[in-house]
Amino acid sequence: MDAANTDRLVIVGGGPAALSAARGYRACGGAGEIRLISDDRARPYDRPPLSKEYLRGETTAESLPMEPAEFYDEQRVTVDLDRTVATIHPGDRYVVLGDGERLDYRTCVLATGAAPRRLPVPGADHPGVLVLRSLDDARALRAAAGRAGTAVIIGSGFIGCEAAASLAGRGLRVTVVSSEEVPHAARLGPEVGRRIAGWLREQGVDVIGGAEVIAVADGRRVELDGRPPVAADLILMATGVSPRTEPAATAGIVLRDGRIPVDERMRTQVPGILAAGDVTLARNAAAGRHLAVEHWGEAVAMGEIAGVTAAGGGARWDRAPGFWSTIGHRTCKYAAWGDGFDTVRVAEHGDGAFTAWYGREGVTVGVLTHGADDDYDRGRALVERHAPLPRR
Ligand SMILES: Cc1cc2nc3c(=O)[nH]c(=O)nc-3n(C[C@H](O)[C@H](O)[C@H](O)COP(=O)(O)OP(=O)(O)OC[C@H]3O[C@@H](n4cnc5c(N)ncnc54)[C@H](O)[C@@H]3O)c2cc1C
Repeated sequence: MDAANTDRLVIVGGGPAALSAARGYRACGGAGEIRLISDDRARPYDRPPLSKEYLRGETTAESLPMEPAEFYDEQRVTVDLDRTVATIHPGDRYVVLGDGERLDYRTCVLATGAAPRRLPVPGADHPGVLVLRSLDDARALRAAAGRAGTAVIIGSGFIGCEAAASLAGRGLRVTVVSSEEVPHAARLGPEVGRRIAGWLREQGVDVIGGAEVIAVADGRRVELDGRPPVAADLILMATGVSPRTEPAATAGIVLRDGRIPVDERMRTQVPGILAAGDVTLARNAAAGRHLAVEHWGEAVAMGEIAGVTAAGGGARWDRAPGFWSTIGHRTCKYAAWGDGFDTVRVAEHGDGAFTAWYGREGVTVGVLTHGADDDYDRGRALVERHAPLPRR
């Protein structure tokens, strides 16, 4: 190992977990050189607006950076954009970039996130079939929306629902096609799913549930099994993501459920390598088990813990994961371990506001609220305490 570089922290990735790792490292007194290497073309930016305000045309790309350019100078973070970390060599502690450059590290943080997954059907790779993860994806989608009168969204996860409502808000005629009977039935239960379907219909979105996509023809027509095809000027495939584990695999990290397993301090099994964010299966100290989480706030929290760990501090991941989603003008807030429930109790608060309590074996494992912020805060605390499922 090059002794001159033994203090270097190499962060692989350019999303919230990566930036937060740099912040956490410096905040905890880490003094080594920081190299943040991202294959994106832009410095870390907010992804949540990409399916909301940015897609609706209410904000510009200039408002998206997570930190201004000066931050990187002040915090001495060198950012390499449009560059890929191809392999990691934990024995001698160095990474090799796609262009062959070798970079030694003392600690390497893998914050490589996830990439959109296309359905394995004919025509899914057609250039006219769009996906949404990066700012470049969002630019392409927004430009296509400007030329389109109709859109089909394949998939009814949060990104699919948010994008559908945003496109409808721009005046497009939008259809959501999903294999689930109602959006989020598996994750949130059919009762909450029906409400979310109602929010989409309120925005003028058609929802075709229980539909299997068998092909996409010419990037313009979605073929369904046993139902008439749906044609549109714009097709967005929002059918989930796959963790980007390529560099981790070269380091000999053994994946679990297709993700990088880490402990509550974000340490992998390989000395000198940490991981944070969507790419991980991370142990949560309060849950007492490993969780797969794909939320912005959790990527920020895990990244910070990784940075603190790299600097020699002792932070642990112990809060219940949570996120907010905005579908049209409706916002829901969700905090949960996210790995299953056997009971859902819905409490009505009038005017469409409600709280859904999720339980497993009588214990609170999640809460979803709409128009009931107090329940969100209370629910998160109940989840973290493993408290009995509330009556209402
Ligand atoms: C449109 C959209 C809206 C969303 N809205 C919400 C929301 O409202 N609330 C919420 O909680 N979550 C939301 N999310 C999810 C949230 O954005 C993710 O959970 C979060 O971005 C995960 O952060 P990350 O840093 O782990 O990974 P990412 O943000 O995916 O960042 C990974 C980075 O690593 C880079 N990279 C990967 N491999 C390599 C490599 N080998 N070499 C170099 N660089 C590499 C990528 O280019 C990328 O910059 C949304 C996501 C999208 C796409």
